[in-house]
Amino acid sequence: MPYVPTPGACYFAVVGGGIIGLATARELSRRAPGRTVAVLERHSEVAGEQTGHNSGVIHAGIYYTPGSLKARLCVEGARDLYALCEERGIRHERCGKLIIATTEAELPGLDELERRARANGVPGLRRLDARQLREVEPNATGVAALHSPNTGIADFAAVARALADDVQVTTGCEVTGFHETNDGLVLTHTHGETRAKAAVVCAGGAAHRVAERAGAPPDPRIVPFRGTYLKLRPEARDRVRALIYPVPDPRLPFLGVHLTRHVDGEVLVGPTALLEPHRASLTWPGTWKMMRRFWRTGLSELHYAASRKAVARDASRYVPGIEAGDLEPAFAGVRAQAVARDGTLVDDFVFSVTGRALHVRNAPSPGATSALAIARVVADRAEAIV
Ligand SMILES: Cc1cc2nc3c(=O)[nH]c(=O)nc-3n(C[C@H](O)[C@H](O)[C@H](O)COP(=O)(O)OP(=O)(O)OC[C@H]3O[C@@H](n4cnc5c(N)ncnc54)[C@H](O)[C@@H]3O)c2cc1C
Repeated sequence: MPYVPTPGACYFAVVGGGIIGLATARELSRRAPGRTVAVLERHSEVAGEQTGHNSGVIHAGIYYTPGSLKARLCVEGARDLYALCEERGIRHERCGKLIIATTEAELPGLDELERRARANGVPGLRRLDARQLREVEPNATGVAALHSPNTGIADFAAVARALADDVQVTTGCEVTGFHETNDGLVLTHTHGETRAKAAVVCAGGAAHRVAERAGAPPDPRIVPFRGTYLKLRPEARDRVRALIYPVPDPRLPFLGVHLTRHVDGEVLVGPTALLEPHRASLTWPGTWKMMRRFWRTGLSELHYAASRKAVARDASRYVPGIEAGDLEPAFAGVRAQAVARDGTLVDDFVFSVTGRALHVRNAPSPGATSALAIARVVADRAEAIV
């Protein structure tokens, strides 16, 4: 990426060089090419946090509450993301996905996912029986499944780099404060100051901290969850053609241990979702309330983190024969999940405003899939506060 000196002034300043900040900056620049849009990113590269460390799945919009922002923006975002990947030659594949019910007891959960997916307009969805699901994934087993042929995989870090090519990004620049002026605001950062008409903050795991510095209330707060991935050893990879997921626990915003083929051919197994013991999250009352509510799940996730055997046992419920010896370590990613003061895990995307700054307060999965559609919503709202 070319070196871009920190601008002293711009029309829009975008804080954060993840996929959502970059997509928003590109959207704002395209709407009025004469307006200067500056992205300020604290790391030396873009996509250094969630965007570069996730499952790499282009979600089709199955899981989300009909009528929610997630439901609408995921379907729109997936469509736009496939188009961008094709246009820019970014590695991706529309490989399809199975969600498998392994027992009769999981069928109501599968029914509910089907109902949501149809309400959300997920293209091409099919209900499969035990025989049909094996035609899609010959090594999988279950009593029924949903097949989503429009779910796919992409290299999200490459998407972020392609978006960064279209905008002006200053790296190594951490934004530390905001001061409102008569005609805009001044951002203070590690290189000094930048004046802007308005700012858009897409700070991922730091969303609540940056928002509070701009005068926003502390609720909701980002609580980090570490997702650790394993991967199948090369000789075991051919057991999985594409993407295989369980029916998720409806109480949690996570999808359960899944098997996902990556664009480079590796098959990831995971992630586990483990609360990061972080001082900021442990001083938030919502964290303790949430932990009390989910203590059983929390304990089983701790067990996963400690035991490759437990992950293998879980994955082998729908792909029999996977054993601990088939797994090796892959990588970890930290999910930025907002938790309200009352302990509720905030489900939908959340945006809020302080003066001339618009904040993305909660953009967990499917945030990468939805980025180009989130960018349109954020750009509309940012234009309205100038
Ligand atoms: C384990 C895991 C699995 C996931 N799987 C999927 C998936 O399969 N599909 C999907 O669609 N989504 C998935 N997601 C979610 C997806 O990765 C996120 O929704 C998306 O990357 C959010 O993008 P972002 O730009 O908001 O955040 P990030 O990528 O975290 O970027 C935020 C950026 O802001 C910068 N920043 C923060 N504070 C400051 C500051 N003060 N000054 C300057 N810069 C700052 C950070 O350095 C960072 O680069 C997953 C996430 C995780 C962690």
